[in-house]
Amino acid sequence: MALSLPLRPSKIVCVGRNYAAHARELGNAVPERPLLFLKPPSSLIGDGDAIVLPPESQRVEHEAEIGILLGRRSRHVSAAEAMQCVAGFLPLNDVTARDLQKLDVQFARAKGFDTFCPAGSPVAHADWRELEITGRVNGSIRQHGRAADMIFGIPEIIAYVSRIMTLEAGDIIATGTPEGVGPLAPGDVVEIEIPGLGRISNPVEAATR
Ligand code: MG
Repeated sequence: MALSLPLRPSKIVCVGRNYAAHARELGNAVPERPLLFLKPPSSLIGDGDAIVLPPESQRVEHEAEIGILLGRRSRHVSAAEAMQCVAGFLPLNDVTARDLQKLDVQFARAKGFDTFCPAGSPVAHADWRELEITGRVNGSIRQHGRAADMIFGIPEIIAYVSRIMTLEAGDIIATGTPEGVGPLAPGDVVEIEIPGLGRISNPVEAATR
């Protein structure tokens, strides 16, 4: 069932290195607890909008992720309660300036440029473990992952985040990307799909100013 909630989150909370194979491909250890960072709401774009490659970066990469849309204010919820806080799931691209991520201790610049968060329409789904995520560039599959293979599952992530910051209805959590991230070039088209739920397609452009 498609939801009519608009995407106007007060925050976009992201989990890094939540699939073991992706942590390894970037030379990182598997985390002992969820690794969190934020993307600004100003980075959001919708289906069909262009991802703009900023001149500050020489390597911008796609990260196909399952996004969670919160349906209610949530604070200090348990993992057992967490799914009651979810309105739906959406395909999300955690676009990342990989070179800047390696230069900076904080991820704000690498993850925060305008257009760096393409996101689709949220859709309700009963069992998060059944969800899968696929990333394609120019029609070729580059990434595929299953929610059941996440290091930290969706209820555990929501509970963990809600101990730190109050989640508001409309907030988004990006749950991490599977292996296969790679660079984007002007003229590419990136598709992120949660099979059976939704898909977004975004062209890639060089910045003109
Ligand atoms: Mg990510």
